[in-house]
Amino acid sequence: MPDILRPPRRPALDHRRRALCAAALLAPLAARAMPSAVPILAYHRFAPTAVDSMTVRLELLDAQLSVLERLACHIVPLADWVAWRQGRLATLPERAVVLTADDGHRSQFEQLAPRLRERGWPVSLFIYPSAISNASYAMTWAQLTELAGQEGVAVQSHTLWHPNLLRERRSQTPEAFQRFALTQLRQSREVLQRRLARPVEHLAWPFGLSDAGLQALAAEVGYTAAVSLGNRSATAADSLFDLPRHLIVDSVSARQLESRLLAAFGTGAAS
Ligand SMILES: [Zn+2]
Repeated sequence: MPDILRPPRRPALDHRRRALCAAALLAPLAARAMPSAVPILAYHRFAPTAVDSMTVRLELLDAQLSVLERLACHIVPLADWVAWRQGRLATLPERAVVLTADDGHRSQFEQLAPRLRERGWPVSLFIYPSAISNASYAMTWAQLTELAGQEGVAVQSHTLWHPNLLRERRSQTPEAFQRFALTQLRQSREVLQRRLARPVEHLAWPFGLSDAGLQALAAEVGYTAAVSLGNRSATAADSLFDLPRHLIVDSVSARQLESRLLAAFGTGAAS
């Protein structure tokens, strides 16, 4: 890995992480903090009105963020959940929640990022590079670079151009599909790392779709985790390469979000 892609050295953090790793190794598994389930929320785009199926109205977004505050949720980076799942991080805070947003829509830059920044909340943005500075709705590379430089924002891969990989597998020969999938997984990571000068470790499956072969390929290419969809909260039993996320669209009211969160925290009815 070129030096430019390595995370900056932070001795204090390294020391703390080493201590946490040691604690994780020494502590019996049952004694580690084991949140029953961690909700990972998947957003897409935001606007004053719900102009399409993936748009969340700004009024609703504010209400949903207020729910996260009122329930005293701890918004943690996806990387922390992955580290905890791998046993590299001993504990996660109570009521941990992970925020993600897919597809690089400009409203993530204009609307979502400022709201999260003022709260000090981390977010993972899953980007397919072919859209950036290209699709009319998408962020520019300058905007994405600005976000990637902000504390708490992790820019991660959503393949190169967002194909339906299961449909492609059905329509191509096995050899052709292998090459196609490798290109989608590998080049997306390479472009983002080169453009943003930051490591890319996580993947979001386009449309949430993958299979065991694709998940193995993602690991082979160097990803450490991949998220999908599924409208349920992630648990330690979930595969690191098929982590379910709650798709948050405009039909998910603040009350419904609250119900899902309380169910994950074991303090409310399941939904
Ligand atoms: Zn997508």
